[in-house]
Amino acid sequence: MTTPTGINLTPFCSQTGRIEYARPLRVAGVGALATDKHIVVVALDHPKLSEFRIAYPNVYPKLHRALSDMKLRAPYQSDQPSTRLDAMHLDPTPACDECHGMGLVNEARGAWCTACFGTGVTYVPIAVGAAHFQLFYLNLMAMHLPHCTLQLPTDHCLGDHRTSKPTPFVFEGGYGWLAACDPKKAGARA
Ligand SMILES: [Zn+2]
Repeated sequence: MTTPTGINLTPFCSQTGRIEYARPLRVAGVGALATDKHIVVVALDHPKLSEFRIAYPNVYPKLHRALSDMKLRAPYQSDQPSTRLDAMHLDPTPACDECHGMGLVNEARGAWCTACFGTGVTYVPIAVGAAHFQLFYLNLMAMHLPHCTLQLPTDHCLGDHRTSKPTPFVFEGGYGWLAACDPKKAGARA
């Protein structure tokens, strides 16, 4: 599990807004971490760890709280049903119709496309177990995280509020959580 990996964490960082999450972080005792609030990726032994900004608990209190909360409430359980991302045969994420994948509606003025919240991709909910996840994130994980395995969400672990509940996953060299998405309503990437 602790093979040094040169995983590219930048695609999992916040692409719009949230400047404090725009780059991977270093969390003491945890490793390298990237998040955009919908997904959290922890790389255990990242070769660029020393280059990442340290996420001190007093500067990133919410992050530290969320991390310990997820470790406690949604740990990955290897004896529970799970699915390998590379066995899911995912379609490519379609580009946004409004901005044609640019993420901007007026390039000269640099205005964010409101249809896709600047992501450039279409919101596509994919059913996995009892929940849905955005195709965009599943594709990112399949592309960047080697041998990624997602715990199958169940009614039991999701409770009444399926949307945004974290579901744990593991990969060669790390672990993380992905938020479930609303199967009907279009949503934003943070
Ligand atoms: Zn768009």
